[in-house]
Amino acid sequence: MAKETTLAIVKPDAVASKLVGEILSRIEAAGLEIAALRMERLSHARARNFYYVHRGKPFFESLVDFMTSGPVVLLALRGENAVARWRQLMGPTDPRKAPKGTIRGDLGTSIEKNAVHGSDSVENASTEVHFFFGGADLFEIDPEEVWRSGS
Ligand code: ATP
Ligand code: MG
Repeated sequence: MAKETTLAIVKPDAVASKLVGEILSRIEAAGLEIAALRMERLSHARARNFYYVHRGKPFFESLVDFMTSGPVVLLALRGENAVARWRQLMGPTDPRKAPKGTIRGDLGTSIEKNAVHGSDSVENASTEVHFFFGGADLFEIDPEEVWRSGS
């Protein structure tokens, strides 16, 4: 299996509910590597661009309004099969249908305010990671170098 990089977003509902630490804990406990992390308040233009595939859908304007309502935490996650593994951790879109133990099942509030975003394919992951992060923003973590260093 190939190492992949996927985009995760902690959405404004989860940031406002002080769930950033809880979500980052689940990511790290699952063995996904945090390759990049930044907080940002999305502009309307940026949110509309990011969710361009959903333009025209009945929930689009409300989604843009929600996604710009407060800061988000943007993450690039790396690991074997990272795209599918992060989707698995998140659970399905609607928290009412998401199993307990998934982030949306445990922490989501509604089909819109569902705590997290994750890229839905390897191809989209690459586009979405580059939408928010340049190559220089992505860190390669070498634990051996860390433990060999210093005293
Ligand atoms: P995401 O893209 O955020 O990871 P997803 O891939 O599970 O979620 P999409 O179908 O891509 O779901 O929808 C994008 C987002 O739009 C959802 O996460 C949710 O916030 C919102 N959304 C989707 N469907 C609805 C709906 N029927 N009503 C309101 N909001 C919706
Ligand atoms: Mg989606």
